[in-house]
Amino acid sequence: TIAIIGGLDADLIMIANRIPDRGESVLANEYLEALGGKGANSAIATHRACHKKPSQHEGEPEIRGLSEPTNVDKHLQKAGTHDESEDNIQVKMIGAVGDDRYGERFIVELNKNGVDASGIAVVPDTRTSVCFVMVENQTRENRCLFTLGATASWKTEDFLKPEDLGNGMRPDLVVAQMEIAKDIVETMIETAGKAGIDFCLNAAPATPIIKQAYRYLTHLLVNESEAAIMSGRDREEVNEDTWGVIAQEFLSRGVQNVVITLGAKGAFYATKTESGLCPAYDVKVVDTTGAGDTFTGAYTSDYLRQKALGKWDIRNAVVRSNKAAAITIQSIGAQGGIPWADEIDEFKAP
Ligand code: ADP
Repeated sequence: TIAIIGGLDADLIMIANRIPDRGESVLANEYLEALGGKGANSAIATHRACHKKPSQHEGEPEIRGLSEPTNVDKHLQKAGTHDESEDNIQVKMIGAVGDDRYGERFIVELNKNGVDASGIAVVPDTRTSVCFVMVENQTRENRCLFTLGATASWKTEDFLKPEDLGNGMRPDLVVAQMEIAKDIVETMIETAGKAGIDFCLNAAPATPIIKQAYRYLTHLLVNESEAAIMSGRDREEVNEDTWGVIAQEFLSRGVQNVVITLGAKGAFYATKTESGLCPAYDVKVVDTTGAGDTFTGAYTSDYLRQKALGKWDIRNAVVRSNKAAAITIQSIGAQGGIPWADEIDEFKAP
C-alpha cells in the first residue's frame, strides 16, 4: 500500500489574457472547476501509473473534473469497475475534507478513480480546501492561492503510530506533500522513519523542515524553486552549476534519493553512488498544472515496483516520470491528462 497524505482542494480556475496587478480586476476568458490538490492529484497519478488504462467505449468523454459532472460520472463508473491491475499496489488517500459539496465529491471521485478513500475524514463544520488558480492565457503560467481547509484540524498526536500513516494499517510507502502544516509533516516523517517505512517527501509548496527529519527520507522530490527554499538559497542560485551541490547537501543530511525536477529541462537525480540529468521530452505544452504530481506518482510507483523485484535503478524511475509528466502537460487541467501505466510505457519521444 502507498499512503498518500496531503491536500485535497477544489481548484477554481480562471484563464485570462493576463494576471491582474494589485488592486486591479481583469476579465477572465474562461472559468473551470476541478478537483485537485497535490494529494489528490498524486493519488490518482500513482494509481494510474500502476495500472493499465481501463477500456473506454468510443465516444465517451475524457475525465474533465467537476465542471461536467454527468459525463464524468458515466465515465468514472466504468473506470471504477475495471480489474486489470498489473500490480498489487493499492493507493490509499489520507486526507480531510469539510462537510460541503466539494468534500462529498472528493470521496466519490477518488473511489471511482481506483483510490481507496477510506482514509479521508469528513470534518464537521469546516470547509474543504479551495485553490484559486489564475492562468495567463499565452504563457500558461499560473498563480495560486489556497486554504488549508479541513486538514487544519489535524494535530501532530494524530500521526505518532505507524498505523496512523495508513488509516489503521501500516503502509509500505508514505508520500506526502506540504499542503499541510509543517510540524505535522515532520511528525509523520519521524514516525515513518522510526518504524522503517519508506517516506517520499514532495516538498511542494516548500517550507524548510527541521534538519533532523532529512535522515528519515527515502526520497526527496523538489522542483528548482522548492530546492532553493529547502536548501536556504535564492531562486537564482539554483542552476546547472549548483544542482549537484544542492543534492549533495540533502544527501549529507541523510536523504537516500534526491530528485530535482527542472521543468522543460527535465530532472536531476542523485544518490550516494550516482547522479545525472534526464532530459525532458520536447512536447507541445498546453498546461503544466499537475506536472510535478504526475512525476511523483510515476516515480513512487516505479520505486515500489522495482523494490518488489529486489532492485532499484533511480535513473529508470526518473526517465519514466519525465515521460508521464510530458503526457500530462499536453492537456488542460491537473487530472484529465494524467497517464496510465501502459500510456507511459508506450510513450514515444517526439
Ligand atoms: P512542478 O510542476 O512541480 O513545478 P516542474 O516544473 O519541474 O515541477 O515539472 C515537473 C516535471 O514535468 C519535469 O521534471 C518534466 O519532466 C515535466 N515538465 C515540466 N515542464 C515541461 C516542459 N515544458 N516540457 C517537457 N516536460 C516538462
